[in-house]
Order: sequence, then structure tokens, then C-alpha cells
Amino acid sequence: MSVIVLVEHTGGIIKKKNFEAVQYASRIAENTGTTVTTLVLGTIAVSEMESLGEYGAQKVLHVADGRLDELHARAYASALFTAAQKENAKIIVTLHDINGRAVAPRVAVKLKAGLVAGALSYPDLENGFVIKKAVFSGKAFAFVNIVSDVKVIMLMANSFPVIKGDGKAVVEKLEVNFSDKDFGVKVKQVNKVTGEVLLSDADLVVSGGRGMKGPENWGLIENLAKELGAATACSRPVSDADWRPHHEHVGQTGGTIRPNLYIAVGISGAIQHLAGVNGSKNIVVINKDPEAPFFKAANYGVVGDAMEILPKLTEAVRKFKQQH
Ligand SMILES: Cc1cc2nc3c(=O)[nH]c(=O)nc-3n(C[C@H](O)[C@H](O)[C@H](O)COP(=O)(O)OP(=O)(O)OC[C@H]3O[C@@H](n4cnc5c(N)ncnc54)[C@H](O)[C@@H]3O)c2cc1C
Repeated sequence: MSVIVLVEHTGGIIKKKNFEAVQYASRIAENTGTTVTTLVLGTIAVSEMESLGEYGAQKVLHVADGRLDELHARAYASALFTAAQKENAKIIVTLHDINGRAVAPRVAVKLKAGLVAGALSYPDLENGFVIKKAVFSGKAFAFVNIVSDVKVIMLMANSFPVIKGDGKAVVEKLEVNFSDKDFGVKVKQVNKVTGEVLLSDADLVVSGGRGMKGPENWGLIENLAKELGAATACSRPVSDADWRPHHEHVGQTGGTIRPNLYIAVGISGAIQHLAGVNGSKNIVVINKDPEAPFFKAANYGVVGDAMEILPKLTEAVRKFKQQH
């Protein structure tokens, strides 16, 4: 019996949020007296999979089928179902991201399992199997008890620190009997955003709103982001006006992010915007209006004109980096 974790990779590289999921599962395994098995799909080096041992995985089940290099939700769910049955797993962990959202509910149906989406806590085992999750766009928390025998948890990334340890996971091949239906949806084209930090994976994000006045001023946001090694984001009116691409828009109708640092520049802090960013560990707001609602959600605030503050902040970061 073990806790199974679906681990994702991009072109053979496993990203940090997956280590968090493995470590999360490892703590649950410890508390329930079992071990952690991860499931890895597609083309990836053995050494990369073995490194999951540094985060608490004892075993990796690898489905070495090149078709799985791209997300095929049904095929992923079939593989996770097969892995769960093989290991007689009672607890399945995925991330609450695009892949997890496509795969976890399908697996929950197959395994007749209860599911918690957007988990923010370890299960409280003293009171059943109670997990905390955010509801109403992060304005409240719900505590959900999973009572089914098999349980599926979709972990919200950046909820726990990741600590690298020692260890090497044992990699085993897993054969899965896929059907044609598992690959019924074809990916015709993938447009990759290159040369930038991916917003969904970013630890640091610099984001601009209508207060930036126009696309011609976005160099100020980009310069700061570049110095920090941050991704860039924006409010919805900014992407609606085509100042920035739509994949940068965060909020209720855009992406949800939980970086360690979110710097909001010229953004008022409407509730629909906050819905996408209020899980950030630290929020810095730069706004010329001291009454801007965003200041209430901020850890640090600067009242002033973004056009003056951004170049100074960028320069200060540059100098700081030179000195350290
Ligand atoms: C159903 C629905 C869904 C929505 N979903 C989203 C969503 O997903 N994401 C989202 O962002 N919005 C969303 N919105 C829109 C949201 O309600 C706000 O209208 C929007 O977030 C405002 O964007 P903004 O803060 O960039 O612009 P504004 O509200 O115009 O604010 C601009 C801010 O910039 C400041 N400013 C101006 N000049 C400067 C300067 N020189 N220096 C510093 N600060 C300056 C101003 O003081 C102001 O606070 C949604 C709305 C609805 C109705």
C-alpha cells in the first residue's frame, strides 16, 4: 500500500511544484504508516526520476510511452488508475494545476474516491481525513472530510516549503493497457512562450494594471522583472486592451497564481483581480492612490507614481545584485 503522486515534467525536466507534491505525500505517508510511489509519464531520463527520492519518494512507476509527452487526460487517468490499483493505493495526490484538474476528477470517478480540489493543508487525521481548502475566490476556507475508502487530493502549489534531502527512488516500468479512446483528442499545435519565466511556475511576479497608461510603458515592468528573474502578469483590462497577451491576465477570469512575491503596479485591487493572486506569500503594491483597495491586501506598499518608482526600484535591485 502506498500514497501515489502524479509527477509532471516539461520536456524531461521536473519542476519544483512537483517536489512539493511529493514531499506533501511523503508526510502523509509517514503519518499513515506507508510509502510514496510516484507516477511519471512519457520521455524522461532515469536520473531525473531517481531524484524524486530527495523529496521522499521510495519508488517511481514510469510509463515510457512517448504519446504521454503531451497531456492526454484520459490516458493520464488510465495510467494513474493502473498505478493506484497496482500499489493498492488509498491516497492519490496530484497538483491543482491544468494537468491535475484534467486528470484527478477522472481518476476519482474510476476509483469511486472522494476528492478535495485546491488542498491547502495536510489531512487532519485526528478528526477523520479533514483538509483545508480555499472557497469563494479565496475569501473563505472550507474544511472538507473525505469519508470514502480511496481519497484524491489536488494540492495547491506553493502551500508548503520544499526541502531537498537525500535519497534515490527506485524506478520501475509500468505497462498500461491504453485504449484508442484514451488518445481521442489530438494536440495539433503547441505555442510555447520562450525566453521568459513561465507565469504558472514563477516564484516572483511583476504585474501591471491600467495605471501603467499604455503598452509603451511596459518596458518598465519588463526591466524590473528581468532584474529579479520574475515573470510578468497583468490585470484584465490590460489584456482586454491588447497591451499584453491574454495568458498574462490573472484573476477570477484569468490565471490563479501563488508566487512568493507578487509586485502589483498601477492595479487598483478589485476583488476579481485579488481572486487570482491573494494566495501569494508576499504582496507589494505600487499605486499613486493611497486609498487603492489593493493596499489592504498588501504586505508592503509604496504610494507614488509608477513611472518614477519602477526605474529606481530596478536600479536598486541591480545594485543589490552586484553587491551580493
Ligand atoms: C465578472 C468579472 C470578472 C473579472 N475578472 C477579472 C480578472 O480576472 N482579473 C482582473 O484583473 N480584473 C477582472 N475584472 C475587472 C476588475 O473588476 C477591475 O475592473 C480590474 O481588475 C481593474 O484593473 P486595473 O486595476 O488595472 O485598473 P483600474 O481599476 O483602472 O486601476 C488602475 C490603478 O492604477 C493606479 N494608477 C494610475 N496611475 C498610476 C501611476 N502613474 N502610478 C501608480 N499607480 C497608478 C490608480 O490609482 C488605480 O488604482 C473582472 C470584472 C468582472 C465584472
